[in-house]
Amino acid sequence: MEALLESLLSAPDQFLSSNGLKIDECFSEKIISTIKNHQSEEAFYMLDLGVVANLMDTWKRNLPMVQPFYAVKCNTHPDLLATMVAHGSSFDCASRSEIESILALGVSPDHIIYANPCKASSHIKYAAKVGVNLTTVDSLDEIEKIRKLHPKGSLLIRIKAPDESGSRWPMSSKYGALPEEVPQLLQAAQTAGLKVSGVAFHIGSKSRNSQAYKTAIQAAKAVFQEADRLCMPPMHVLNIGGGFVSDALCFEAAAEAVKTAVHRYFSEEERRSLTVIAEPGRFFAETAFTLATNIIGKRVRGEVRHYWLNEGFHGSMMRVDRAALVRSCISLKCMSNNNGNDNEKNPGMMVMHDGGARTFSSIVFGPTCDPIDKVSEGHQLPELEVNDWLVFRNMGAYTLSCSNNFNGFSSAKITYLTN
Ligand SMILES: *Cc1c(COP(=O)(O)O)cnc(C)c1O
Repeated sequence: MEALLESLLSAPDQFLSSNGLKIDECFSEKIISTIKNHQSEEAFYMLDLGVVANLMDTWKRNLPMVQPFYAVKCNTHPDLLATMVAHGSSFDCASRSEIESILALGVSPDHIIYANPCKASSHIKYAAKVGVNLTTVDSLDEIEKIRKLHPKGSLLIRIKAPDESGSRWPMSSKYGALPEEVPQLLQAAQTAGLKVSGVAFHIGSKSRNSQAYKTAIQAAKAVFQEADRLCMPPMHVLNIGGGFVSDALCFEAAAEAVKTAVHRYFSEEERRSLTVIAEPGRFFAETAFTLATNIIGKRVRGEVRHYWLNEGFHGSMMRVDRAALVRSCISLKCMSNNNGNDNEKNPGMMVMHDGGARTFSSIVFGPTCDPIDKVSEGHQLPELEVNDWLVFRNMGAYTLSCSNNFNGFSSAKITYLTN
């Protein structure tokens, strides 16, 4: 059996995901050995901090003048946060508890933006106490709360990005002042004696339309002009939010769009005093995490296969494109499923599914009894058995941080560092 595994490991064309995509051999080896050492059916994560370090290099190469404030809500894994601190990132926090967790890592309050336009009073008081001053607002009521509770606060006017097309998770139905609301907000801040430092927007998460940054930066510039018109002290912060994806071509296009727009809409003199910041979440977290899940149940219904995984909607998959995940998952056969003898000799031995194997239309369910807890339906998968594994890549963004323990099932608790 070792020999079989060895031969599979040395035959790269065996490394195909269930949709026939080729998989990096070294990555497959890592998964197989991690599952073997895991010695449990429990789902788990693998975190590659090297990916995070490379993405930080990519960021600095493409957007050297834009300081990233990592959006903590995207993934709060302690090793990820520590790596971001080590690489000099600043942080976007949206609540008292997020601010506490970042301060506990030794980050200075100057390197935190409280980027929630609608904050509870007690949380604002806490921010004032610990010296987190920079925050976003998009309503008169928020300005009034800050005047009362955090007079040293420094405001960014959060505007609605004009174009969220191409974004998978739009933001603007919830946040962002409309153009016609901006003058009133600026005046209210001025009357309240609050400093207005600049403008913020978010073009929506997972955006594949880099031009959205351009129209949003143009709209931000209009707010700078409005402040001038009202004879307010000059603003100097442009916060371009999140939405970035780490796919190289997409990111480079977004970075180009940002640089071009900043040059087009801000004069050289304005640029000299301009600080551009961003709040990337997904960009740093998404590709660093891999989730390995175990098949805990199976039902054959005619030609269709039903599988139950120990991760699902209420675990890590509420906010991800579950159909896309299943289309690109990697299936691993537990060899002890093949016959009883192997079981005794080689418990837990893993091999990749052969990409040429016959496939079946399959429904994949999560473990809870909630009917919404379905991962995918109608995708082709090879014949799988209880105890086989399905491995999902790019599971770092809005996965663990969105999970709950409905029905007593919690999300994968163990994370192995794989580099
Ligand atoms: C969620 C959020 C982000 C991060 O967005 P990504 O799409 O993950 O980059 C940034 N800023 C604000 C205000 C957010 O709410």
